[in-house]
Amino acid sequence: MRILLIEDEKRLSHFVKKGLTENGFAVDQAFDGEEGLYLAQQETYDVIILDVMLPKMSGVEVCKKLRSLKKETAILMLTAKSELEDKIEGLDSGADDYLTKPFEFAELKSRINALLRRSYHQVSNNLTVDNLEVDPLKHTVFRNKKPIKLTPKEFAILEQLIRQKQEVVTRTQIIEHVWDYNFDSLSNVVDVFIGTLRKKIDKGEKVKLIHTLHGVGYMITDKKPKI
Ligand code: CA
Repeated sequence: MRILLIEDEKRLSHFVKKGLTENGFAVDQAFDGEEGLYLAQQETYDVIILDVMLPKMSGVEVCKKLRSLKKETAILMLTAKSELEDKIEGLDSGADDYLTKPFEFAELKSRINALLRRSYHQVSNNLTVDNLEVDPLKHTVFRNKKPIKLTPKEFAILEQLIRQKQEVVTRTQIIEHVWDYNFDSLSNVVDVFIGTLRKKIDKGEKVKLIHTLHGVGYMITDKKPKI
């Protein structure tokens, strides 16, 4: 999952980015409102974390602008003050949720996860297909009740596939949602990751879950994929 973090406090921004990256998220940072607005329009994000008090353009203005441009990306607003008025203004401008500073990282993570669940129309935190269980919040993977250890990037790709299970996910979609904007999209790194994921998830299992649809993309399903 890919996140745009628009926050001018450098220390907080780096702390949040570090935590999210360790949890398998790809994070792009913007340090003022204009830069944030530009990136939000140019790139594909699953969630935008948007501070209210920003140089050049406030978070509320950025949010209003994005909604007026019909950008529907989930927006989590950060407000330094806990006054009701700021929260109402943020939500009225089109934000989906807000979090008051200072906050615990665990709380940020569960708010992000709730927004992702909404965007991908999921009711439960536990993502499953056949006997594979992925918990994005606890960051655990089980196949047939046995734990599987994945690297953050492997986890991120698996999470993307399973959030869109039974659907084709193209290589471009994976790159857009799993890597930040420094990624060189010409490399075959996605195929390499799919290869290692398949070894960890499907090796020795009767039902193969990760399928390659040549020239189209990938799909996670316990049925025979049809396109
Ligand atoms: Ca700020």
